[in-house]
Amino acid sequence: MDGRRYLATRAGGVMSEKWNLIVDVARCDNCRNCFLATKDEHIGNDFPGYAASQPEKEHSWVDIRHKERGQYPIVEANFMPVMCNHCDDAPCMKVAKDGAITKREDGIVIIDPEKSKGQQAIVDACPYGAVYWNEEKQIPQAWIFDAHLLDNGWTKPRVQQSCPTDAFRSLKIEDAAMQKIKEQEDLEVLLPERATKPRVYYKNLHLMTKCFVSGSVVADIDGIEECVDGATVQVRKDGNDMGQATTDVFGEFKIDKLEPQSGSYELQVRSSAGGDLSMQFTIDDESLYLGVMKLSAG
Ligand code: SF4
Ligand code: SF4
Repeated sequence: MDGRRYLATRAGGVMSEKWNLIVDVARCDNCRNCFLATKDEHIGNDFPGYAASQPEKEHSWVDIRHKERGQYPIVEANFMPVMCNHCDDAPCMKVAKDGAITKREDGIVIIDPEKSKGQQAIVDACPYGAVYWNEEKQIPQAWIFDAHLLDNGWTKPRVQQSCPTDAFRSLKIEDAAMQKIKEQEDLEVLLPERATKPRVYYKNLHLMTKCFVSGSVVADIDGIEECVDGATVQVRKDGNDMGQATTDVFGEFKIDKLEPQSGSYELQVRSSAGGDLSMQFTIDDESLYLGVMKLSAG
């Protein structure tokens, strides 16, 4: 592409760089620093054109949500921050009147703190519950991607700066490049069925949305019941392979990313040390621990 045409295309906004945020659910440990940093930034501080000050209570512009999965003894707790997704096809914009919400060229969605006065419908329109009603000021408010800081030379938003586990990665890149990263890193968005085109992507979202099956494998070895290390566990559904794992030194295994409410599966365990077994299980809404499974010599 020649330089002149390239510049014209960029100026026209067709190939412009836009902000995106990647959140790695596996890295979030619920320290709440991002929540607190956002409160610190906005409580008592007005940023005209960006956001009015946040009330001291009841608003969680960065909301840490949690999900417990599993059954004793294989149980885990996972966490993820949820905030305005800066959607490209934003339902909030469809109900906003008088130009109360704008989509900036860099992808950031801003609810104007003046023009949005009295527009409570904006709160209800957001499918992510990311907009909060400021009762005192009578305005809807949400996380602004720290646009006021980025416009003043910051290279990343405060949520990213404050996170001790590097759960956030902000990127200002062209959409085609972001789509490539999405595919390469298996990123997902929240509520894809709503087709809002979020600019916030999640890595390892299965930790919040999917189920796993787990168990402990033992066998009689030389007359003593032992944990079986290195057994192959395979899960199949309707003849299709749905996952595989190898038992650890405690004989435990975990196979993840099973769809909730997905019904019955067949499980097979094979071990050169102690034989094999097969059984069926059903996934409803929760992850399963199948208990201690004893191999019978083959
Ligand atoms: S700062 Fe990072 S680790 Fe802490 S709650 Fe936020 S995303 Fe999770
Ligand atoms: S997450 Fe909600 S508030 Fe943010 S752009 Fe999307 S619809 Fe609007």
